Amino acid sequence: MNIEKFDSRFEILPIKEIIDENPTTKTFVFEYPLGGKPGQFIMMWIPGVDEKPMSVAFDDGKEFWVTVCKVGPASEALHLMKVGDLVGVRGPLGTHYNWGNGDHLALVAGGYGAAPMYFVAREAVKRGCKVEFFIGARSKDLLLYVDKISKLEGVNLHISTNDGSEGRQGFVTVLLDEVLAEGNCDVVFTCGPEVMMKAVGEVADKHNVASYMSMEKYMKCGIGVCGQCAVDDTGELVCKQGPVMDWKYLKKLPEMGKYHRDAQGTKHYF
Ligand SMILES: Cc1cc2nc3c(=O)[nH]c(=O)nc-3n(C[C@H](O)[C@H](O)[C@H](O)COP(=O)(O)OP(=O)(O)OC[C@H]3O[C@@H](n4cnc5c(N)ncnc54)[C@H](O)[C@@H]3O)c2cc1C
Repeated sequence: MNIEKFDSRFEILPIKEIIDENPTTKTFVFEYPLGGKPGQFIMMWIPGVDEKPMSVAFDDGKEFWVTVCKVGPASEALHLMKVGDLVGVRGPLGTHYNWGNGDHLALVAGGYGAAPMYFVAREAVKRGCKVEFFIGARSKDLLLYVDKISKLEGVNLHISTNDGSEGRQGFVTVLLDEVLAEGNCDVVFTCGPEVMMKAVGEVADKHNVASYMSMEKYMKCGIGVCGQCAVDDTGELVCKQGPVMDWKYLKKLPEMGKYHRDAQGTKHYF
């Protein structure tokens, strides 16, 4: 697919359906042939508020979903919207995950990352892949997409929570370490908090398995113009070279797992 071709496409779309996922997360469904691939994102314009990057959580060529956690002004405004309200959508944008037919994938999700990882799993099992799906959250009520993932054939679900209210107590990387030690997985994909993804990359390295991750950096344009999402100290733009990037490259960046920048470019340490 030629991603460049879609860079300037902009549509105003009504929200078709809203699904409450957990106390702070909703999925927004749009009837529109976006053509997004797992790992890609859209720029979503919330009229009068802001335009924000959002990962494609599902796309079957007829409808697509985005799953949004309520954390600040734009996501809160989106959470107040109703079915039929209009938003702007540009995309699909950025790089996507790649795998081979029949591969054995390890997918590691934290936070809203469960949604784009679900899209990977859904497409991968269609192509004869076996999937180990690791999902971690602070507590049971914050776990996302567990019912949807459980329904996918060919997917083994591994759950951990920090407080032990569901699955194994502790970090999801402990479960990943155990499964990778069995030596059956071909590749690791991860989407979640950057500190978690860094730990995932290190566990994958320990077992000599390649890993790729969805980077989240502050974006304003999403198409490589504003330079807001440039990483230290290569200057590469996450909206163009990412968001799906190779850990081999990411682990050399001085900022990886340490800090992110806000709209003004000010550093915030994790
Ligand atoms: C490629 C990409 C895909 C994304 N996909 C999704 C998605 O599918 N679902 C979703 O809910 N969000 C997603 N986001 C994040 C989303 O774009 C917004 O950043 C988020 O909704 C917050 O916007 P806000 O205006 O509500 O709050 P803001 O005021 O922008 O942020 C709220 C709080 O979060 C902190 N914060 C912002 N960015 C980061 C960061 N990178 N690391 C750590 N803390 C940070 C801020 O410091 C602030 O305290 C994605 C971001 C990128 C770059």
